[in-house]
Amino acid sequence: MLRKDPLFDAGTAGGRVLLHAAAHHQFMAALLYFIDVYPVLNGVRQVEEYRDEYFAGTDAPPWFMELNGSRLSELLSELFASFVCGRDLNQAVTSISIMADRGFLYTLDTLGEATLSEEEAEMYLEKQLEAVDALSAAGLPVHITVKPTSLYSQIGPLNFQQSVDVLVSRLKRILKAVKDADGFLHVDMEQRVYKNITISAFKQLVSESSYDQLGIAIQSYLKETKADLRDLTAFARQGNHRFTVRLVKGAYYEYERIFAQENGWPSPVFEEKYMTDAAYEENLAILFENSDLIRVAAATHNMRTAAEANRLASEAGLSTHEYEIQMLNGMATGMAEALVAMGITVRLYAPYGPMVPGMAYLVRRLVENTATDGMVRLQFIQAAAPEDIFAAPTGSSSRLLFHPDGQYFINHPPADFSLESVRSSFSRSVKNAGSVMKSVGERIQDISKNQISNRLSKAINDIEEVAPAWKSSSNAPRRAEILRRGASIMSRRIYELAAVQVLEVGKQWDQAYNDVCEAIDFLNYYAGESERLFAHRSLSGIAGERNTLSYRPRGIVGVIAPWNFPLAISTGMTSAALVTGNGVLYKPAEESAVTGRLMYEILIEAGVPEEILHFFSGEGEVVGAALVSDLRVNCIAFTGSKEVGMGIIETLSRQQPQPPHVRSSVTEMGGKNGIIIDADADLDVAVEAVLQSAFAFQGQKCSAASRAIVHESLYHEFLNRLVAAADSLIMGPAEDPGTYLGPPVSSEAERKIAEYIAIGREEGREMLVKDNLAIFADIRTEHRLAREEVFGPVLAVMKTDTLRRGIEMANSVDFGLTGGIVSRNRGHIDLVCENLEAGNIYVNRSITGALVGRQPFGGFKLSGQGTKAGGQEYLFNFVHPVAVSENMLRRGFSPDFRG
Ligand code: NAD
Repeated sequence: MLRKDPLFDAGTAGGRVLLHAAAHHQFMAALLYFIDVYPVLNGVRQVEEYRDEYFAGTDAPPWFMELNGSRLSELLSELFASFVCGRDLNQAVTSISIMADRGFLYTLDTLGEATLSEEEAEMYLEKQLEAVDALSAAGLPVHITVKPTSLYSQIGPLNFQQSVDVLVSRLKRILKAVKDADGFLHVDMEQRVYKNITISAFKQLVSESSYDQLGIAIQSYLKETKADLRDLTAFARQGNHRFTVRLVKGAYYEYERIFAQENGWPSPVFEEKYMTDAAYEENLAILFENSDLIRVAAATHNMRTAAEANRLASEAGLSTHEYEIQMLNGMATGMAEALVAMGITVRLYAPYGPMVPGMAYLVRRLVENTATDGMVRLQFIQAAAPEDIFAAPTGSSSRLLFHPDGQYFINHPPADFSLESVRSSFSRSVKNAGSVMKSVGERIQDISKNQISNRLSKAINDIEEVAPAWKSSSNAPRRAEILRRGASIMSRRIYELAAVQVLEVGKQWDQAYNDVCEAIDFLNYYAGESERLFAHRSLSGIAGERNTLSYRPRGIVGVIAPWNFPLAISTGMTSAALVTGNGVLYKPAEESAVTGRLMYEILIEAGVPEEILHFFSGEGEVVGAALVSDLRVNCIAFTGSKEVGMGIIETLSRQQPQPPHVRSSVTEMGGKNGIIIDADADLDVAVEAVLQSAFAFQGQKCSAASRAIVHESLYHEFLNRLVAAADSLIMGPAEDPGTYLGPPVSSEAERKIAEYIAIGREEGREMLVKDNLAIFADIRTEHRLAREEVFGPVLAVMKTDTLRRGIEMANSVDFGLTGGIVSRNRGHIDLVCENLEAGNIYVNRSITGALVGRQPFGGFKLSGQGTKAGGQEYLFNFVHPVAVSENMLRRGFSPDFRG
């Protein structure tokens, strides 16, 4: 008979909370959010405020709502203490000694904040060395588990080789101490994006260290794990290496599902719990087949799985000391004790650390303990019958993870750079991009001032000649089809198109690939939207009257594009104008003419008549200005700077001689975007969001964050972490996949950035200047650094004492493009969403990276006229609506009245 699980003891407040949470979803969700924010709350009053905010209106029990702030704090401390073995190393050592007395082995894990900088990585590494010292000083066997993402701040799939190299060298530093203590070093497994890095680093460590007290965790919920295990076991056999594999179910199940879904990737994890359980048993069998080399550590709280491990071990002829069951400290305690009583080796995973960073761990444990399909619930809450607990894992799939049901627009998936095949395809394309650029470049001839007038007239004549057929409404399906064909050509040539951007404008690999994805999205999205637009529309009418609304193209559209999203923005504006039946004069930016030319050629190949789409490369002041001034051009679609955009609006509205029609424009202009960091923000999220928004692609995005407006209570801590994180970013050429930040697009851009760095030095406190990247603190609203668009990696950090003041500061600029807030206070989030003057507002995430259909993009104030690229209304900018009303009554007869 198992001892009752203390976690779910209804006689304790903690047990009652967990039992209620396990049965009430709303309460559970609110509880997890509450635990997440709790560590930053200030005093009992605020705890009560958040209790009310988070739990009111949920299915929280009345007794819970009556718990006051101090009782709630005690409760959370108790819950936290039930899973961790101490808040510091001393407490951890004491707990581990007690575990040893109870017959358990252990492995020590250090809880911490996300590692965002190399300073933080070094601190984590130091903590491991301290732990080794403390454990050996206490006469305990040394056994530690380390997390790869905590050891290296720049770890990532794009930075694959460097991630492996740095990990190996840091693991070796820890291993030296572990070896001296004759201890054990275990490498944990985290999110799937880091899996291949972790496995590669582990293999290298094993090969180079000739030490067999090394282990790695492998997750059974991943569909690709069986292949990984085959690879690992082959590696062990080839080199006669000995090491441990801790087979786990996997701790990031929800995250992996959501991350894959967000990216449009197939889910890497099994859809159903029973599938993971079944896979786990198969994986166990693979490991036990190789138990002459691999020591098996079956990490499970599932009694059937533990029984299966015991069975496989005895089949393999292993004694109870030649394999082990691993369990998390505080979970399924009765089961752990029973296994020890049976003489089985049980190792407890024992995390330690302060409560603030430890809360993420607590959230994961609670999710696991209360999951509706979890074994913990079945065994220890529902006290299921033995035949159910020990039943073989079978079932039927009811959950389809990804529903491409046509209701939502499906974006083109980004590249999964954790795959070797993707990295090598990209690398080959980058090597080839120089020759692509050369040959495309030969087909580009800039149009000079002398030539422009003739060229324009010829192009306009061409368009006018074929316009009747092109623009007719019966041609609408063909136009949509051409766009879709363009999308599939781009999709087929995606690596080539991305690699050209790497060379032409210095985009990082992932950003370049995403730009092509966005171009493909625009083509598919506007094709679909045009079908909606040109579908026959009846309007309400009374009997005897027929009302319809239809749309006609405006005529000739001049498309003037920027260089920073060289394919996506050009393709978006051009395809929207084409699919609505207009003729297009397209001018790429000078800096990205090759990409522009490639887009032009792809659209022609897809079927746009050469008479309808014309390529006009050349200087903005010459070619762009000529398009804007020509009265035969009905509409200008422009994306670029405020100065040029406002000039275009002015020219279009004040023309002499008077044009034959009102000339319209779609002008998407610059930004001076701010992220507000609220007093209760999660700093891990805030620093990461600002870092990414301000510095990715050197800050050369209209949506980039150039101001961080930070609540005074966390101003210093935020700044310290941000500066250290920014200082750790890898700088280098865009051709190198590990580069986070490269040089600006041109020497002119570099000069402008240098100018603003000099201004920042005068106006604020210099926190970091490294190449072109700069962070200045204490910037105020009147400063130029707070008002003017730099279009480079220069960040102004501003302090605020209240949220309202923060919003005022954010709004105190000419622009209104993007903005955001990092906060865990629903009221504050709502206040920002209602009052921030920005066309795109992002909450608890970076403020860049809008996706077609999901986040229609565009601003107001002096950032634009409120048009939304990638949104349902966008095509309306390129058409004239025409309403037709027909009187159906003839001599008193109307067909509407015929039976
Ligand atoms: P830019 O204004 O210098 O150039 C944009 C385009 O306008 C180029 O093709 C250029 O040749 C042309 N041009 C220049 N002078 C002209 C003139 N007098 N008449 C007509 N055309 C002229 O901008 P850029 O440097 O290419 O791009 C950066 C700017 O674009 C930034 O301000 C950025 O914020 C903005 N931007 C806005 C968005 C958005 O969606 N709101 C998107 C990307 C970029």
